Amino acid sequence: MEIHAALNTKTKMFCDSLNDPDEKRPNQNICPICMGHPGTLPAINAEAVRKVILTGLALNCSIAEDTFFERKNYFYPDLPKGYQISQYQKPLCQEGFLEIESPSTGSGFKRIRITRIHLEEDAGRLYHAGDGSLVDYNRAGVPLMELVTEPDFENGAEVRAFAEEYQMILRYTDASDADMEKGLLRVEVNISLTNPDGTYGTKVEIKNLNSISAAAASVDFEIKRQKEILEKGDKVEAETRGWDGAKQITFSQRLKEEAHDYRYFPEPDLPPIHISASRLSEDDPFVLDEIKARLPELPQQKRERFKKQYELPDSDIEIFVADKSLGNYFEHVASELLSFDKLDHLEKPGEEHRVRLFKLAANYLITELKKHRITAGSAETKIPPESFADLIVRIFHKQVSSSGAQTIIEEMFNSGKSPEEIIKEKDLGQVSDTGELESVITRVILDNPKAAADFKAGKEASLKFLIGMVMRESKGRANPQVVEVMIRERIK
Ligand code: MN
Repeated sequence: MEIHAALNTKTKMFCDSLNDPDEKRPNQNICPICMGHPGTLPAINAEAVRKVILTGLALNCSIAEDTFFERKNYFYPDLPKGYQISQYQKPLCQEGFLEIESPSTGSGFKRIRITRIHLEEDAGRLYHAGDGSLVDYNRAGVPLMELVTEPDFENGAEVRAFAEEYQMILRYTDASDADMEKGLLRVEVNISLTNPDGTYGTKVEIKNLNSISAAAASVDFEIKRQKEILEKGDKVEAETRGWDGAKQITFSQRLKEEAHDYRYFPEPDLPPIHISASRLSEDDPFVLDEIKARLPELPQQKRERFKKQYELPDSDIEIFVADKSLGNYFEHVASELLSFDKLDHLEKPGEEHRVRLFKLAANYLITELKKHRITAGSAETKIPPESFADLIVRIFHKQVSSSGAQTIIEEMFNSGKSPEEIIKEKDLGQVSDTGELESVITRVILDNPKAAADFKAGKEASLKFLIGMVMRESKGRANPQVVEVMIRERIK
């Protein structure tokens, strides 16, 4: 696989023009440097270099101590300089790996080796309109990170697993927004079947894949296509193919004639890059141990921690890992669940119910927020985690029904009120229906004949006791005022 990711730095790779993938107006974020005007001088965006190193560290790569940029010469209208500044001989990162959960290995992990990760600049964009073409240079010079793997994949499912995990890592390290629809992540695959002697057969490249699913499907299709050709005794052509998503097939785009000669040579306008192990001088731009310190918890570490800490089902964990802000929100709710003491007249659920509470919280977070299209970020600002935790405890004590809980969540989000206020206002948690309470009251009176007799004899304290018993029996759902009236009615 070859994956290009646009880094999310504020400015471009070698100039101060904005790096804004959302700019819709063409040729807004340009300057003489990224337009390739003669006589201009590029300068290295140090943060882009650091983001590549950070990604390399997340992927277990060894990081170069000394490296440099090179010119890759070719002419294309979206490349105003006539060359791309890239890295060839010495990538910033090499010899890493990423472990993916692979269907081919049954259960367990498969290690995909990473050959290299280097830093280069993006080209502009061509728009073919009518009998002419237009070019937008907003993207020209945006920092672009290219990752190349070893040929370790055996099927489309593995390609998908790798691409999804890499996309998540880019978001966790905040190197790239990795949005495929915006072209911030571009996946290319190279497929060849292995010869009986273990060598690789003719390689076919598939480009312009617009989703991870397309990449996976194109691999499976191409394996089948090449196999059929070889079984007929024919030759697989070395070519670049495209993917037709509607027909779910690859199609020939162009034959590979001979290899390009890009005439790579070191970029004379940029200084070499030195990465020091630790800080020696104030103005060291690249300090490995400082970049290492920026490494966040990675998706796989988070999966393992969530499993241990919250004992949630794998499918829930995957949702919280993929949606980082929803995962953070869940953790805030979970910590509130552990820390509060008492809620109204409800007891704090015992330690043995800890996991049950986590599961309830995960369930309501995943299903309800999704249903109301509430994003985790906006939920956190409108529904404080302690309110969500408060609601979860009420659900646990069956003080509110599940439909009541749904209304409360919606209302918490719309009005920012607490569950208690909403329950009171909407008469949600409590049972005031005399028919429903009748049987509970009958049972409590039969079970507590002494208290019933004492109250009949005029002892008001016994009434309080009986009301308390009904509240307990109804798990707090009974409306105490209604209960009082009903008991007074019964015992005269
Ligand atoms: Mn490239």
